Amino acid sequence: MMKSSNLGYPRIGADREWKKALEAFWAGKLQEEELRSQLQELRLNHLKKQQEKGIDYIPVNDFSYYDHILDTATMFGIIPKRFSYDGGVVPLSLYYGIARGTKDATASEMTKWFNTNYHYIVPELDGAVPVLTENKPLIAYREAKEKLGIEGKPVIVGPLTFLKLSKGYSRTETDAWLNQLLPLYVQILQELASEGVQWVQIDEPILTSKLSVEDLNRLKTIYETFASAVPTLNIMLQTYFESVEQYKEIIQLPVQGLGLDFVHGLSGNLASLQSLGFPENKVLGAGVIDGRGIWKASLRGKQEVLKKLTGYVKPEQIIIQSSCSLLHVPVTVSYETKLGSELKDALAFADEKLDEIVLLTKVARGDVTDVTAELEENERAYQTFQLSDKRKREDIQQAIASFADQKFERHLPFAERHQAQQKKWQLPIFPTTTIGSFPQTAEVRKARQLWRKNEWSNEQYAEFIRKEIDIWIKLQEEIGLDVLVHGEFERTDMVEFFGEKLEGFAFTQNGWVQSYGSRCVKPPIIYGDVAFLKEMTVEETKYAQSLTDRPVKGMLTGPITIMNWSFVREDIPREQIAYQLAYALRQEVEALESAGIGMIQVDEPAVREGLPLKDEDQAEYLAWAVKAFRLATCTVQDTTQIHTHMCYCEFHDMIHSIDAMDADVISIETSRSHGELIHSFEVNTYTKGIGLGVYDIHSPRVPDVAEMTAMIERALQVLDPKLFWINPDCGLKTRGQEETVASLRNMVEATQLARSNS
Ligand code: GLN
Ligand code: ZN
Repeated sequence: MMKSSNLGYPRIGADREWKKALEAFWAGKLQEEELRSQLQELRLNHLKKQQEKGIDYIPVNDFSYYDHILDTATMFGIIPKRFSYDGGVVPLSLYYGIARGTKDATASEMTKWFNTNYHYIVPELDGAVPVLTENKPLIAYREAKEKLGIEGKPVIVGPLTFLKLSKGYSRTETDAWLNQLLPLYVQILQELASEGVQWVQIDEPILTSKLSVEDLNRLKTIYETFASAVPTLNIMLQTYFESVEQYKEIIQLPVQGLGLDFVHGLSGNLASLQSLGFPENKVLGAGVIDGRGIWKASLRGKQEVLKKLTGYVKPEQIIIQSSCSLLHVPVTVSYETKLGSELKDALAFADEKLDEIVLLTKVARGDVTDVTAELEENERAYQTFQLSDKRKREDIQQAIASFADQKFERHLPFAERHQAQQKKWQLPIFPTTTIGSFPQTAEVRKARQLWRKNEWSNEQYAEFIRKEIDIWIKLQEEIGLDVLVHGEFERTDMVEFFGEKLEGFAFTQNGWVQSYGSRCVKPPIIYGDVAFLKEMTVEETKYAQSLTDRPVKGMLTGPITIMNWSFVREDIPREQIAYQLAYALRQEVEALESAGIGMIQVDEPAVREGLPLKDEDQAEYLAWAVKAFRLATCTVQDTTQIHTHMCYCEFHDMIHSIDAMDADVISIETSRSHGELIHSFEVNTYTKGIGLGVYDIHSPRVPDVAEMTAMIERALQVLDPKLFWINPDCGLKTRGQEETVASLRNMVEATQLARSNS
């Protein structure tokens, strides 16, 4: 009989109880015991919910006190060597120390979990001696069994994925590390087996990338070792986020189940089944319900997919499950009271996805009698939304279609524009600027709250914002910056601010997802065609410009960043969504220009986040991402200077795309990996205006002049001084006023030194 399964449940709680508990503990307001009991309650609630819904295989050990990769590392006693550790179970203070830093040791690096917006803590193997400090999956299994009578399915990050995501070792040492880790995995699995565990889910998302021959051999070694050490335990080798690359080799592994993503890897995985079939002695974990998207599934459509699968796999060999852990979606739609019913009915967050899995399983089993009504309701809601007029703007669709063959070029090539711009702006060598935002103090946030609660009128709030702009224009002039900004005081967040002013967006009240640690984000939903409604940034920018003779840079968030930081509709390609956003932003760019703003920055910090996992898909994505940026910015006059900003340092593999965006000036984060970035300019040339961040804005520390001078000098060894700008790494909204002013003064002093030496 077909079974249902889930791969992981969100930790944060419907009311973000998890976040609140963690932060209270960090602030010293909650004792460790209290934290543990609050989190246990939450964890058990989540398990109970899945039990009540009727999920057959409920994941355990998917819960975490921060991040599951950090859990895996600490379970193996893998502690960065700058922390002191005497062995044994890792105490919570050390665990959080690694995640967040202590006064003596910096935090471990965190990085994106594949192509999601979840960030994990990168394990540092250097100097570690792996031991099993505690069997976390076993503890989780026992808890679920004892407290709720649940026969849980322990989830473990697989050895190959764990090693691939770790750092602090050279690739030639991979086998040595694997040899150290394997016995620990075996011990975990043996203990699980003797406890009576039936299924474990071993997550190996790395199998969606192309593995080398060596890695394929390692994979074989790993799973053959497991098979002979724990022959009675059923292993579900779980992949997600894309189709597996080496299906042929993977189906030969001696595991009892293979989990495949039939949402994000649908065509690839189907093609593999079609050409190579599926082994009769394995179970197929059919990830048909999207674990990362927020949309209700058409269960009729999903039945079609299942029908295709049963062409290769016997129905009793199939487990119906989510495509990946539900960690990436909010908890439940049920608390949303402000969304229109059409939209609300079209959404499915974690809890609703579990319902879909269960319903689909019932249907597939043939228990049709009691589910016909539910099935019909699903189809009705799905179709109503698909056909809804509220999502369609003929004029926008026509405009985008008419752009199809355009190249979106500025009138003049960069070299000539540059001359025209120099003539107009008369900027000194090494112009100084900032990235856009200035400190969002408690006062600024308070003012916004009062206004949102209608305790302040629009005019009162606007007056407050103008005062902040007054203060900061004066400060910037005093500090001696060349290109000023208005400070973004009116914005909460660089996506929400624009989304609220454009057509096609909706906002949830409670649609939070974990981004890293306790940090949660509430992405807007792009549900319909995006359209420009009215000017969004002109008033504040124009006001700032009226206060000074120096140029004020307008400040917009780029199309790709808005898209990548939102949940987006799935009925049209992402490319089209990007163009719609770009077209709306173009109208804002033009409005700023007509209002006399001659420098406009279009931030694209999130371009990299949308990069497809498969190498062969990346060029296409980058091509349309670049095109969207150009669509938004190409219509301005030659003398109007287009800036852009990006926040990351891995620049080398994207340098050509960044160049093709054709911005007159780019500012980019540098200070945290200065060497690597400079190196990329040694091997690539970049021939447009560029500002490398000369100080890290993530810390309240005021960098001194000498430090910044060193950064500038090093950069000037590889970059053309005539095109070089000086700026901080990123926006300053999280900093305090005093440290910001002090840091910028030092930055200007370092610039003056550089000028006098040039
Ligand atoms: N202009 C934005 C700011 O300064 C850019 C933020 C970002 O790059 N993430 O806040
Ligand atoms: Zn940035």
